[in-house]
Amino acid sequence: MTDNDRLITPNRLGEQEVVGEVALRPNKFDDYPGQEKAKSNMKVFVKAALQRKEPLDHVLLHGPPGLGKTTLANIIAHTLGVNMKTTSGPAIDKPGDLAAILTNLEPSDVLFIDEIHRLSSASEEVLYPAMEDFQLDITIGQGPSARIVRIDLPPFTMVGATTRTGNLTTPLRDRFGIISRLEFYDNDELAKIIMRSSKILNIPVDKGGAFEIARRSRGTPRVANRLLKRIRDFAQVEGKEIVDKEIASSSLDSLEVDKEGLDYMDRRILQNIIEKYSGGPVGLDSIATTVGEEKDTIEEVYESYLVYRGFILRTPRGRVASKQAYDHLGLPENS
Ligand code: ADP
Repeated sequence: MTDNDRLITPNRLGEQEVVGEVALRPNKFDDYPGQEKAKSNMKVFVKAALQRKEPLDHVLLHGPPGLGKTTLANIIAHTLGVNMKTTSGPAIDKPGDLAAILTNLEPSDVLFIDEIHRLSSASEEVLYPAMEDFQLDITIGQGPSARIVRIDLPPFTMVGATTRTGNLTTPLRDRFGIISRLEFYDNDELAKIIMRSSKILNIPVDKGGAFEIARRSRGTPRVANRLLKRIRDFAQVEGKEIVDKEIASSSLDSLEVDKEGLDYMDRRILQNIIEKYSGGPVGLDSIATTVGEEKDTIEEVYESYLVYRGFILRTPRGRVASKQAYDHLGLPENS
């Protein structure tokens, strides 16, 4: 098994998987289990906007990857009965790219910008008047004869998604009227998502199988859907007609996803903190270097879940492995 095969976490999506995700993406609030708080508030805001026949205020969704930010943006657009145009911070090279997208919007459209924290500051500047007054400042000409022309944009709703609100500048964050944090899912919610995906993908799964996958999906729907597809392969090759607890469990063992849902990289991170840094405190840069993964990925993808589950403690001096981490890896605390 290569390192890449071992990673079930949602940081690397192949093209095929992106296409697969579209099929599994619900477009109604009722088909989107979990995120009750965010969802119930959002339903009110959407309904109020529809009643007033106004575009919805700008929305910022934040939380770890794979929790349903893009999906929720899609549901918002669908419920409002408008189109959603999608782009992302890294895809916008120059402010002119953003200006072109903005001038092509239809009234009330949703503009979804994924990874909005990665927009350049020059592009951000374009967004301020666009979000606040639905206006765009365009500079015509260069040097002393350059002048700024202000053009009107159709009123629109911006939905920004970010894995890290901390990296968003205050002026940008302040321009969102609705800010919503998505949380990790519990097992009941994930089991519902798995049952729904199993119907769409035509993979028979019983309750025991769905719960076993849910328990080991790191609280993340994208991981749950990905594991479901991989387990289907094991079930098919072993001649099983239904994914039950037994085949789910043995497949997940083969995929090196342990009973707590941690994968190879999660365990490697914990093991490194314990064995190379005496359990910490250790900085993120050092962890990234020893496990050979990018710092941002460690922070957004792996650490967020390890902290949520209490395996890693964040302290002012760095990351510390908890007693739970030692117990889980079967290592003595003085190692
Ligand atoms: P993010 O944008 O936060 O990275 P996505 O919205 O792309 O996450 O979701 C990843 C996958 O998980 C998609 O296939 C989506 O259908 C599924 N998913 C996420 N949240 C839910 C949910 N609450 N209900 C059903 N499916 C979900």
